[in-house]
Amino acid sequence: MTDSEMIDLRSDTLTVPTEAMRKAMIDAPVGDDVFGEDPTVHELEERTAELLGHEAGLYCATGSIANLLGVRLLTEPGQEVICDAQAHIVRAELGAHAALNGVTTRTWDTGDGKVTLDKVAGLMAPAQSPYFVPTAAVAVENTHNFASGVVQSHPELEAIARLCREHAVGFHLDGARLWNAHIASGVDLADTATLFDTVSVCFSKGLGAPVGSVLVANSDNIERARVLRKRMGAGWRQAGMMAAGALHALDHHLDRLTDDHHGARLLAAAVAERAEGAVDPLGIETNIVMINTGRHQAADVVARAADQGIRITVVTAHAIRAVTHLGVSVEGSVRAGQVIGALLAD
Ligand SMILES: *Cc1c(COP(=O)(O)O)cnc(C)c1O
Repeated sequence: MTDSEMIDLRSDTLTVPTEAMRKAMIDAPVGDDVFGEDPTVHELEERTAELLGHEAGLYCATGSIANLLGVRLLTEPGQEVICDAQAHIVRAELGAHAALNGVTTRTWDTGDGKVTLDKVAGLMAPAQSPYFVPTAAVAVENTHNFASGVVQSHPELEAIARLCREHAVGFHLDGARLWNAHIASGVDLADTATLFDTVSVCFSKGLGAPVGSVLVANSDNIERARVLRKRMGAGWRQAGMMAAGALHALDHHLDRLTDDHHGARLLAAAVAERAEGAVDPLGIETNIVMINTGRHQAADVVARAADQGIRITVVTAHAIRAVTHLGVSVEGSVRAGQVIGALLAD
């Protein structure tokens, strides 16, 4: 089987630029971004900040560095950030917040990945006594990657934002897939983003740009983040060629995320039809489908699916993940669901 015949659902980072996006990238006006002279980077930073209702933005090479800087702006070494036990910042950023920001983490657990005021209030410990680590920031992920892409409840986020303000605790949003949350829920991007002090959003996931995330915050904090980023060696030069891909994605790939969500639900339904209890299609809100493999080893299911042209990933010994994106048609997603369902029913 050739690569082009594979239905690759391992991640929405696998998208490659369309012809129209490549054209926009080649034609982009560029300059040296460390000198603050790349007009296309400026346009992306300003446009993203405006969309999210914040004063300023900083275009970064990855979501990990945008999260690292966002949390750094709200904490000092020796303090803590609290978040979900399955959050990307604690599970998938290789300890960066400890190793580079010098902060510790404590985590809450939810069954379904949806944060509530109670979970946060139960953990938060701002400056209790000289002997306890003070909570300096709360971080939330929307959508929640390892919780099958669920969308956070807006009223709960509002309540948590109020709690953070009352205690002068920072509030960071890992919004790598905030675009998906917005499209699935209809909640305005800025209505969510303005609840937070710092927000990272990713352009190289479902939006399909080749590189980059933007961190938004107030202007003072973004100026600080620019210095911190350069200190880590992550200033860049004619990054406008990449930013042009992200701008193109905002214009052309945002509304089509509904197709990815539709494909993910159909994939889940095709699995559930054949393997009862492996996944609840009604629980699939966006483009990520976590599937319980039951008595089968996840690694076996992944290997056997690959033999039939379907690429997915192992999440735990008995869970696999499929992610829909613009490189996979709705028909391809359904076919993947049929193959996976048949393997699990076997
Ligand atoms: C992908 C992702 C990121 C950023 O990942 P990078 O690979 O560093 O760009 C951050 N948070 C979540 C939830 C993600 O899924």
